[in-house]
Amino acid sequence: MSSSRYVVVPERLIRQEILALNAYHVPPASDMIKLDAMENPYSLPQEIRDEIAQLVADAAINRYPDAGASQLKASIAKVTNLPPGMDILLGNGSDEIIQLLALAVAKPGAVLLSIEPSFVMYKMIAAFVGMKYVGVPLAQDFSLDLTATLEAIEREQPALVFLAYPNNPTGNSFYAAAIKQIIEAAPGLVVVDEAYYAFARDSFIPHLAHYDNLLVMRTFSKLGMAGLRLGFLAGATAWLGQLEKLRLPYNVGVLPQLVAAKLLAHHDVLLAQAESIKQLRSKLLAALSAINGVYAYPSDANFILFRVAHATQVFEGLQQRGVLIKNLNGGHPALLDCLRVTVGTADENQKFIAALQDTIRGLL
Ligand SMILES: *Cc1c(COP(=O)(O)O)cnc(C)c1O
Repeated sequence: MSSSRYVVVPERLIRQEILALNAYHVPPASDMIKLDAMENPYSLPQEIRDEIAQLVADAAINRYPDAGASQLKASIAKVTNLPPGMDILLGNGSDEIIQLLALAVAKPGAVLLSIEPSFVMYKMIAAFVGMKYVGVPLAQDFSLDLTATLEAIEREQPALVFLAYPNNPTGNSFYAAAIKQIIEAAPGLVVVDEAYYAFARDSFIPHLAHYDNLLVMRTFSKLGMAGLRLGFLAGATAWLGQLEKLRLPYNVGVLPQLVAAKLLAHHDVLLAQAESIKQLRSKLLAALSAINGVYAYPSDANFILFRVAHATQVFEGLQQRGVLIKNLNGGHPALLDCLRVTVGTADENQKFIAALQDTIRGLL
């Protein structure tokens, strides 16, 4: 080591906005009832598992994947009813697509705008790529504050707007008419993030052709493929062709491509699971609302946000009783005393409710 140079420590080299970040925290969940990450709780029927086993056994994992993923894209276009003329870009989860979009537009001073509280990766990825992040607060009831959002768009001229539809972690869907006004007012791209489409009542995919600045992003993570890591962006080729240049050529591996295409051939099975989760969601909402001191928000997604006094203690009490949910208390001022539970199987939901009642009783 030369004596003339400074000691190389991360703080001297890493960008300030990265030093200031907290890493995305994923708590250990072994042996817990895992209701923290919006996963589909069901496993697949044995015939489909056998089909997957055969596919994996025969897969050419010594070869690089099909960089264009043509077969998988065709399956996605089919199950999505992709409008004619629209194209698909695949990501290693939709998180990667958020990053691609941000990288593509991150000119000096460019703004990424979203609403708050919403999906935390929008803000984190803005920091990764050096964009300015603007978060417009939702109204008290978690609906869009359209006036404030339109004012912020006028003032900040964002290159990129993200709207989660339904929103995470609040679970509600904003009014489609309000989203349309935002798309019309925005000087840049508006990405409608439909991570929870399988549990929702509406989609912007049919509107893609009406707006030249609209893209729709989806993931299969919440529909039973979280472990595969697969998301996609749908929109006009003019946009996706540019974004393709930034996509690392083999971002979706051989096995995810094969297995996802197989699962999409059984899309009806996954949608039936989603339907069951929606029914369990109604029951879970009713059970939560029946607990004294709990206020649960209606949801169009596969999770429910609820408010309870001493939320962090309640979260810890649940953890001690073997149930892992998400503690949002302290994450954002609007989420004071808020917890988020993923809809699990009927049995998991019952155990969660029992553990919650027991915890709250213990705190009185
Ligand atoms: C879960 C989630 C994603 C990311 O999902 P991936 O697993 O990265 O595909 C994106 N947006 C929202 C709103 C989410 O809740």
